[in-house]
Amino acid sequence: MKLSMNHFSFTIQGQYQQSRAGVIQTAHGPALTPMFMAVGTRATVKALRSEDIKEINPQVLLANTYHLFLRPGHQRIAALGGLHQFMNYDRPMLTDSGGFQVFSLGAQLKQTAKRNSNQPQLKPAKISDEGVKFYSHLDGEEIFLSPAKSIEIQQYLGADIIMSFDECLPDSSNEQDIEVSLLRTYNWAKKGIEQWESRRRLSEQGHYQALFGIIQGGKYRKWRQIAAKQMSSLPFDGLAFGGETVGYNMEDSKQVLSWTQSLIPPHLPRYAMGLGRDPQNIIDAVWAGFDMFDCVAPTRLARNGTLYSGNLDTSVEPWIWQSDYQKGRLQIGNAEFANDTRPIQVDCDCFTCRQGYTRAYLHYLYKAKELTYYLLASIHNVRTFVRLTEQLRSAILERNRKTT
Ligand SMILES: [Zn+2]
Repeated sequence: MKLSMNHFSFTIQGQYQQSRAGVIQTAHGPALTPMFMAVGTRATVKALRSEDIKEINPQVLLANTYHLFLRPGHQRIAALGGLHQFMNYDRPMLTDSGGFQVFSLGAQLKQTAKRNSNQPQLKPAKISDEGVKFYSHLDGEEIFLSPAKSIEIQQYLGADIIMSFDECLPDSSNEQDIEVSLLRTYNWAKKGIEQWESRRRLSEQGHYQALFGIIQGGKYRKWRQIAAKQMSSLPFDGLAFGGETVGYNMEDSKQVLSWTQSLIPPHLPRYAMGLGRDPQNIIDAVWAGFDMFDCVAPTRLARNGTLYSGNLDTSVEPWIWQSDYQKGRLQIGNAEFANDTRPIQVDCDCFTCRQGYTRAYLHYLYKAKELTYYLLASIHNVRTFVRLTEQLRSAILERNRKTT
């Protein structure tokens, strides 16, 4: 595949009210928005082959810097040709900065071999202006991650979009803590940019890497706005919205964007990190003006027997997810499906539904904990979210044509 070496752009192709449809050009080809990114934490979407991911067609595949840094190591992946070559996947990819996992995993899961106790010993990460000292959740080894190091690791991994290293505070944080933290995140962003520029924004493999900044600020309008101004003043290719608030609480997630919308450049893609537990969340967030999403829910819930079902309904505004099942989910382990010969969803275009795998078979595989279940169920769930973003995109473009 011929890679474009110095290229990243975001073009808005259509708008309807606050929602946008666009295209991001990356070194590994175009990625259409709105997009739901498949989550391949450890350079694999659990239970899926790279061919399965391509068939599902998420516009971007996300991998996790923290996990890959610990195992198999960014230098090894670079020596093996970078993330794309390593996992035999030649489409656009994004790596996160590792910050979130450092705080949530490394921070709390130091499991030392305490002789007289089986209890894991918890040791918090130590945060300073220079970076974060934390402990590997694999073996407890002490590791220091700085903002420049995070970018350097991502340069070795070689995704098309990389993320600035940020501090992710809990929602319960008071304003004083947020103020200190935002200044730190801003300074880390500038140090990350220095590292990014030091390699002329190119990956170890030689292609352009877009860098996204992250807007934090908890639940506070004032601090979200300050963060938005700070991040907008830096030469980022896109902006993400992070923190506990975003993704978990939809009202707050939408509010965060409405507070900051006039302060951020409209031509940058807007990524709501971790948002997408339910299809309706994606619809609401697109309606609010976000472009990019990721969430582990589709794969995690698939493995736990929860399958999504439904379609986008644009006959009412704001648009809704129309489903025969509560919250758009069915529990495949329920006895009612044991003799059900229908696919998970009759009009779903995923491989599993298209090939005629029945609810009865999936019910049986799930109950028997057969590995094939994880593949078939994950394909359906991820494709359902990707299909939703395709439906959203069509609806936006169609209305854009009508209104212009
Ligand atoms: Zn399906």
